[in-house]
Parts: sequence; C-alpha cells; structure tokens
Amino acid sequence: MTGKFGDSPDYVIGRGVVADGSGLFIEDGALLVSDGKVAEIGPWETVRKDDVPFYDVEGRLILPGFVNFHHHLYSFFAPGISPSGPTETFPDILENLWWRLDRVIDEESLYFSVLMGALDSLSFGVTSVFDHHASMNLDSGSLDVAAEAVCQAGIRAVLCLETSDRQGKEAMKRQVAENLSFWEKHRSDPFLGGMFGLHANLTLSEETLSFISEEKPPEMAVHVHCGEAPEDLAFCREQGYEGPVDRLNSFGLLDGDSFLIHCVHLSEKDYSLLGEIRPVVVLNPESNANNRVGKPDRDRLPGHLLGTDGMSGDLVAALRSYLLLGAGGGEPYSRMADMMFRYPQKILQRHLQVRTGFRPGAAADIAVLDYIPLSPVSEANLLGHILFGAKGGKAHLTAVNGKILWRKGEFPGHDMNSLRFRAKRAASAQSLRFRNL
Ligand SMILES: [Zn+2]
Repeated sequence: MTGKFGDSPDYVIGRGVVADGSGLFIEDGALLVSDGKVAEIGPWETVRKDDVPFYDVEGRLILPGFVNFHHHLYSFFAPGISPSGPTETFPDILENLWWRLDRVIDEESLYFSVLMGALDSLSFGVTSVFDHHASMNLDSGSLDVAAEAVCQAGIRAVLCLETSDRQGKEAMKRQVAENLSFWEKHRSDPFLGGMFGLHANLTLSEETLSFISEEKPPEMAVHVHCGEAPEDLAFCREQGYEGPVDRLNSFGLLDGDSFLIHCVHLSEKDYSLLGEIRPVVVLNPESNANNRVGKPDRDRLPGHLLGTDGMSGDLVAALRSYLLLGAGGGEPYSRMADMMFRYPQKILQRHLQVRTGFRPGAAADIAVLDYIPLSPVSEANLLGHILFGAKGGKAHLTAVNGKILWRKGEFPGHDMNSLRFRAKRAASAQSLRFRNL
C-alpha cells in the first residue's frame, strides 16, 4: 500500500456491508473510489489493491449518502429560543416563532447557521439537502450567502428562497428575482442547484401567484409547503378553490418535478390532481408531530420522500419517526427502502445532473453508519438493521464526491473550535435581535 488513507483522492473503503437498498448487497464488501467516483464494487478481498490506501470499516454498514428533501438550515440557531407568544395553533407557531426568527437573520447569522447546519447534516451521513430558506429582511443575495456556506461544508444542496406576501409587494418581487437568478446561475452545477421557493398558499395572494406564474420558467420546479395545517386548506377554499394543490395547479405552477411539502390536509380533488401530476411529495413526520397538525394519508401519496423540516439533520432518526408515527398498520420495508435510496437518486439526477448510488461511474456519495451488525444481515432485513440497529445518531464516515468530510467524530479540514466560536457569536447576536424585535 502506498500513501496514508486521507491523503489520497483514491481509496478503497470496505470490510463492511455494502448495500444500496435497491438490489446491491455484499456482506463483506468494498468500494474503490477513484477521482470522486465509484470505480469498483465487490468482495473486499477482491477490490482491495496493493497500491491504494484501504479504509477498514470493521463490519459497519456502507450505504449511499442520504438525501434530506426538505430542510431549513437557517433554523439551526433556533434551539432554546422562546416563542414571543402562544404556540397553541399552527398560525401561532408561525407568528410567534418562525416569522419572528426569519426577520432577524442577517448575513453573518445566515452564513453560520447554514454552515453549521450543513456540517451537522454531514455528520449524520446526509450528503445532499434540499433547503427552503427564509430571511425576510435579507432577500437579495441571501442564496449566495447560503451557497457559500454549503460549499464550505462540502455538501450538495438545492436552495430556494421562500416567496411570501408577508413583507409587502416590493419584497415579494425581490424574493422572486432572487430565486430566478440563483436558479439560472447554477443550472449545470453538480453541487449546487436552485428551485422556486414559495412559502405556502396561505401567505400568497391571487395577484402574487399570477405574477409568479408569468415570471417562472416552465422548467423551473417549485418547492412549497402544501396543506401542512387545516388553515392552508381553509384559506384555499375561501379563495374559491377546492384545496392547496388545486390552487397551485390553477396557476400552472405544478408538474412532476414540483416539491409539495407535507400534504397533510388535502381535498379529494387535491388527491386526484396528485395522481395526475405526480409531483414529489415530501413528508416530515417529526415536524408534523411537533406542530400537532395531524398525519398525512400516506397510501394516497405515492412515491413520497422524507424531510426533516428544520427539526434535525438526522435522516435515519426521521425514518424511525416515520415508522413509529405512522397510522399503526406497519410500513413495508420496500417502501422505506425506495424512499431512502431508490427515489432520491432519480431526483438528484434531475436537479443536479449527478448520478449517485453504488454503480461504477457514479459520484461517490457515501454514508458509513456507526453500527456493526451482530445478528445476520441480508438485503431483506437491511432496513430492520438501519431502523433498530443503527437507529440514527452520528455516522462513522461521510463522503461527498469521494471527499471524506466527516470521519470518526471529526470534520477533516475544518478548525471546529474557531468555527464554533464564530457561530456562537452570530447565534447570540441573532437571539438578542429576536428578543428585542
Ligand atoms: Zn418547512
């Protein structure tokens, strides 16, 4: 062997369970990573090379990196913040916590919350994140600041800015322009992409949706909270529509690439439109439970994916919550495997034009869970080991495009003491602004 592991861009990672949740399963397997790509997959003794550094995972699970389909990285400094009023209803929670918080974000707190949130995601084996950003007093240029932070962390990200009427018409127009220019700038970047961010029907007027439908190019997909709470459905009905999907669709904003987040409170017509349009539906079980908004009817939301909605960066923990907070009828492992592995690869290819997964030539986005199975492991019970063995928690190693970004509790290449010091200062100043607002 020449070179030390960590010094070389090429390495073999193995002597673990290599599985992709979509048909590949090698109990004592390994991957050869070369030039950021998966170059070879097989039994570890076959893949190991004399002239390439070998990283021994000692029996752990080697999986494709996870994708978080709905996050709010700006919320990373929210823990501990006291809402300024009641949080009994969903509108109360928005008014007294989130809408207050997103008005006090400045450039410094945005940069550090996104950077620390992105690093946090990496530490859980998440290698790509679809983020929905909001900072009502920092609109123009905010996605560039967030982009700088995610690039610094090394995670892949598809960003958008929440468009809403909450700050008035001129601010709404700046938000629209910010989404458009960021999307245009990153159309062929395998690490960064853009979508059209919309808050939710209940803060978007008819006039605004009409304006957006004129401004948004047809090939640009929306990322929108949809039917999260009963108030969103009621608002759409007051406007003369049958529901939130019906209203967005009436303005021509939906297609198969649209991200509809939550889909808890929908009408019959909404479900029927989902069947026709087949957008990407993203469920966030921990957030729904926290906000007490009810549970989505999963069986009517085919092909749905998983997000954390700012609650955490831990997607395996979210998957456990998805299982435990279900309707009680149990969830087939095949559905969860599709949600964690098969569908995410298709969506990433669409938005970032990047091939992932454990196939020769695919980008080497890897999550090694910090769990060594003792009971027999097979393709059929892989999800059982993830849910009840690994359970969530920090990963052992995370790589994006072959680059090791998290390993044994550390972020190689980052001075975390200095970063935490600066992040803490930014978070403290933001908390003070929140209290004084
Ligand atoms: Zn959200």
